[in-house]
Amino acid sequence: MTTPQLTLYNTLTRTKAPFTPLDPSNVRMYVCGPTVYDFAHIGNARPVIVFDVLFRLLRHTYGAEQVTYVRNITDVDDKINARALRDFPNLPLNEAIRRVTERTEDQFLSDVAALGTLDPTIQPRATDNIAEMQTLISDLLAKEHAYNAAGEVLFDVKSMPDYGQLSGRNLEDNLAGARIAVEAHKKNPADFVLWKQSADNEPGWDSPWGRGRPGWHIECSAMSERYLGQTFDIHGGGLDLIFPHHENEIAQSRCAHGTHAMATVWMHNGFLQVEGQKMSKSLGNFVTINDLLQTGAMGGHAWSGDVLRLAMLMTHYREPIDFSVKRLDEAEGKLRDWQRAARDAEPSDTEAPDEAVITALSDDLNFHRASVAIDALAKLAGREGGEAFKARLAATLTFLGFGLDTLLTSDDGWVEPPHIAAAIAQRLEALNAKNFAEADRLRDELAEQGIALMDYKDPETGERRTKWESKR
Ligand code: AMP
Ligand code: ZN
Repeated sequence: MTTPQLTLYNTLTRTKAPFTPLDPSNVRMYVCGPTVYDFAHIGNARPVIVFDVLFRLLRHTYGAEQVTYVRNITDVDDKINARALRDFPNLPLNEAIRRVTERTEDQFLSDVAALGTLDPTIQPRATDNIAEMQTLISDLLAKEHAYNAAGEVLFDVKSMPDYGQLSGRNLEDNLAGARIAVEAHKKNPADFVLWKQSADNEPGWDSPWGRGRPGWHIECSAMSERYLGQTFDIHGGGLDLIFPHHENEIAQSRCAHGTHAMATVWMHNGFLQVEGQKMSKSLGNFVTINDLLQTGAMGGHAWSGDVLRLAMLMTHYREPIDFSVKRLDEAEGKLRDWQRAARDAEPSDTEAPDEAVITALSDDLNFHRASVAIDALAKLAGREGGEAFKARLAATLTFLGFGLDTLLTSDDGWVEPPHIAAAIAQRLEALNAKNFAEADRLRDELAEQGIALMDYKDPETGERRTKWESKR
């Protein structure tokens, strides 16, 4: 059995190329993590799930102990300060900030665990790495890549001849595109903050440049260097991070260390919309992971984390996704089919995931092709004598982070989705009360989801009963 060659699309070179780790005994990946001030939304779940699949594939390919995955927690940010003042106005600021960041971080970790993701190897917090950030800033100042102005330390983009490679923007574009008035203290409008002084009512750390706090970009340069080294293999995040965040991380790290690369491969997931619209608080379609797991934020009922995971992976990671109830229904149906086919597989620690699935994922995470292979495996597992296929299917689903029985019951392999049972009960009540309009409305609502209702008389009691079937 040979391992297929992994190929990955690299935003930096704009090509898909074979992946060669710098050190196959320690494959290193960094993914920008959440800023912890509020519930993570379903868009934030996309990089978490996509890079979890890559982490699993790298572990499979190079060995579980041979991969280091760092995902940071950004716990210093002006949005956090604002939230702390709003939610805990009577606490000292530091204490209030700690409350906000701790509760948000805990929430994030439990939300993403429900999505079937492995813990990254290291999850550093920005505030535990302030000294490392200060060292980087000192180096940049010493090498004249940074300057001090009006209480800020700024990165001097003109000092880096090839600034802008990742995003393909050059400094002239930035100048022309600058929508904000040039801030007088900057040499160039594209110069960005490494350190800024804090007012008394803002969080701050002592530094050679006054009591202050770091800029956002320097956090990731410092944490990735500390845990992965000056140059590492893969750096990921959503495509909104290409500019300015990742561009500026590259500028800082390469200029501080005098290196040609910060990371070899830069990977970016596409954006997610909800029901055809950009998610925003004002449109009222801002959906958190927690809403989907716990409440009826979409489709009127909660969804299993497995279903959210599959719904996310059904589209290639670089394409935009329209997250919709239709998509969730489809994912639920498919996952249920897979779980039923894998039902009662012999438990095994040694069974390997399906080769065709590994081959598909090795092609820049082609999950669609992987899912076609899983469908084929599920078909074989359902046939007489399909035990070996069942075991392989179970191993494959586990490898991909899916549960084996989250959508099944012990008797017939089905869990009646709770919203269907609830709608049927409501409709029977409406019929009994002769509220036919409401009864029809409930029937039509289910019909839109592909659920057809059939009324019949209980043969013993003569009472009205309803059964349903899926038309998909
Ligand atoms: P933030 O907390 O906003 O810095 O975002 C954390 C991660 O989620 C980053 O990798 C973002 O690129 C990603 N992200 C944010 N919004 C979306 C979205 N709507 N679709 C996909 N990824 C997103
Ligand atoms: Zn980052």
